[in-house]
Amino acid sequence: MALGEVEAVAKVGKGLFIGGKWVDAAGGKTFSVEDPSTRSPLCEVADATIEDAIAALDAAHGAFEAWAATPPRYRAEIIRRAYEIIMARSEELALIMTLEMGKPLAEARGEVAYAADFFRWFAEEAVRIDGRFYVAPDGNSRVLTMKQPVGVAYMITPWNFPLAMATRKMGPALAAGATVVLKPAEQTPLCSLALASILEEAGLPAGVVNIITTSDPAGVSEALMNDDRLRKVSFTGSTEVGKILAERAGRRLLRVSMELGGNAPFIVFDDADIDLAVGQAMIAKMRNMGEACTSANRFLVDSKIASEFSEKLADRMSHLNVGRGTEADTNVGPLIDQAAIDKVTSLVSDAVANGAAILTGGRANLDDGYFFEPTVIVGTSSNSSISKNEIFGPVASVVTFNDEAEAIDLANGTEYGLVAYVFTNNLSRGLRVIEALKTGMVGLNQGLVSNAAAPFGGVKDSGFGREGGFEGIEEYLDLKYVAINHRA
Ligand code: NAP
Repeated sequence: MALGEVEAVAKVGKGLFIGGKWVDAAGGKTFSVEDPSTRSPLCEVADATIEDAIAALDAAHGAFEAWAATPPRYRAEIIRRAYEIIMARSEELALIMTLEMGKPLAEARGEVAYAADFFRWFAEEAVRIDGRFYVAPDGNSRVLTMKQPVGVAYMITPWNFPLAMATRKMGPALAAGATVVLKPAEQTPLCSLALASILEEAGLPAGVVNIITTSDPAGVSEALMNDDRLRKVSFTGSTEVGKILAERAGRRLLRVSMELGGNAPFIVFDDADIDLAVGQAMIAKMRNMGEACTSANRFLVDSKIASEFSEKLADRMSHLNVGRGTEADTNVGPLIDQAAIDKVTSLVSDAVANGAAILTGGRANLDDGYFFEPTVIVGTSSNSSISKNEIFGPVASVVTFNDEAEAIDLANGTEYGLVAYVFTNNLSRGLRVIEALKTGMVGLNQGLVSNAAAPFGGVKDSGFGREGGFEGIEEYLDLKYVAINHRA
């Protein structure tokens, strides 16, 4: 590691952040965090036990009543300060992110700004929590509604957006007046730990946010979710784990938000601007090395323009530099681990065995880290594994269609429903197709939908609940209705 990298990692707290203090795990256990671009260890962090998790819940529960009672403006100003500190420390946070996760520095800077934006947005929303007052239809009573914070929220985040997934959950929770126990992914705990220090510096009272890193996510989550004091679970991760957690939450009727996997179709009609579609395809596919739930997973292209689109895409992909994210000329960093390399390799081999052809890339390069070449494959069957599973890697797979109805059928032919991308210059067709798509989000002539001011989320196996937008704060508010006898 270069000197600046060692210093950046050294600055981050490595303990558990509980009740405003940095503490070791019970028993002093730690686990190692690795740099996926070198496969060498970066540092050790505390490995929380169930006892530690319950201590974090004690702290969050103890802080709840006072935090919930603070003036919204007070909460807003702390969240706003945290936004400003994140932006001021953008370089440092981006470097930590690149080291633990692999994405190129330019993308890491983008994620830092995106993550900070959730704090800016929800600082603004904290002062707009509303209720209603109206006359009941029979005129005999009055209806009052009010919103109150849900209580203690448990947040579980994935490794692919180590900072933004934490702020996207924490921003609305803190704005609503809820308190938090956050469990980041094992592979990328450092961004969340850095965030703990930022919140502390911003003036967040002790116990309002507690962060536990652990190598026992199932045990810790089970213990927290069995405790009566927990009221809410917000999870971002795989559909497989999401279903386990939703079932567990059901036993206690916890409120639940689930941001799960995707299998996004990227539909290009023959009336689209092909160069625009190719440019946006690079974003929809290659952001985060393809390791995004919103990543374009199936390129569905009208057969009349499929060759032109695929060749232009392959040309762009073949000019990308793959390398360590800290290098200035790197466009594509490593995947997260060997399991990711094995999955992508097997999906590509299976597609080729079933008749697809590789236009560019196709191989892993494991000399240093977990690298995979930017890849375009064409002639893919809609029934092959690569069309049915989340690739989570830099592989664009092109399937052709012959008419609008077939495009819609192919797009909806998945259990997932997070996002779809539609490229057309025909407004009527665009609106028709958007209405027919069974997804929570659609990009129209645009390959990026993420925006703190918009409601992010899916349908079907991609989960439920929304993060961001005006809707995001509602996930952390309970609604109370009061029937008023105004003549008493
Ligand atoms: P994952 O394996 O489901 O892990 C996500 C988080 O869940 C991690 O913190 C993990 O901890 C924890 N976890 C694992 N098993 C658990 C269990 N039995 N009980 C409680 N927690 C458990 O997913 P991933 O591979 O890290 O992340 C990639 C997935 O996230 C993809 O499917 C992607 O589409 C999805 N994602 C969705 C969105 C969205 O907004 N819809 C955004 C980003 C990512 P450990 O790290 O310790 O295993």
